[in-house]
Amino acid sequence: ETPSQPLQFDIQDLTFRYETKDVLNHLSVTIHAGEKVAILGRSGSGKSTLASLLRGDLIPSDGTVLLGGVPVHHLQSTISQYIGVIQQEPYLFNTTILNNIRLGNEQASVEEVWDVLQRVGLKSMVEQLPDGLATIVDEAGLRFSGGERHRLALARILLQNTPIIILDEPTVGLDPITEQAVLHTFMHELQDKTLIWITHHLQGIEAVDRVLFIEDGQLEMQGSPEYL
Ligand code: ATP
Ligand code: MG
Repeated sequence: ETPSQPLQFDIQDLTFRYETKDVLNHLSVTIHAGEKVAILGRSGSGKSTLASLLRGDLIPSDGTVLLGGVPVHHLQSTISQYIGVIQQEPYLFNTTILNNIRLGNEQASVEEVWDVLQRVGLKSMVEQLPDGLATIVDEAGLRFSGGERHRLALARILLQNTPIIILDEPTVGLDPITEQAVLHTFMHELQDKTLIWITHHLQGIEAVDRVLFIEDGQLEMQGSPEYL
């Protein structure tokens, strides 16, 4: 199946439980195409679980997640054309920086790779590595800091150029100036894209259209960021 309508998320009566633990409890909300949304909630409130459900990586225990009118888990492998995700622990592979960034977008040029590195504030760091883009990122990404790993993943997402981007705490480990720059890139340069930004702090929140607060598996509150 493919979405026939604008790429709006309709989250309908979504319930999710791990074996014994109830995480989401009859959550309903719509996220419009092109909207910039922040999802806030305490640690353990189910934000990362929701991100996995939005991408169809988990199947709802009850209720549905529709994207453009189609249940996301019916989109299967084509989902990656629509949604780019950076998980809370960004996934890096034991290959070069170039390959890590081009993942899922192998036809991108080296110039385009440098461009996205610039946009996430990593260009000069990579330029200074003796092997540059050919530097091997070991699997755990241990030669890079947490913030740098997040930024490598952000560069990959920018290059993939999907209409929907889900970022799970992507600025953890960034200094405030870099965080501001990264937020600016995602909120303002990517005007036409849907952005779902999972965070548990308020930094940069004024740039989103709407904030969703999750608590006890439900939508506790939502509104524009001015009202926080
Ligand atoms: P944080 O802000 O710390 O990242 P979160 O809001 O993203 O938290 P989730 O990771 O979605 O929270 O987890 C929600 C709840 O589900 C937590 O209580 C967590 O312990 C539990 N949980 C998460 N993953 C699993 C799993 N694979 N099996 C069982 N329970 C899980
Ligand atoms: Mg989480």
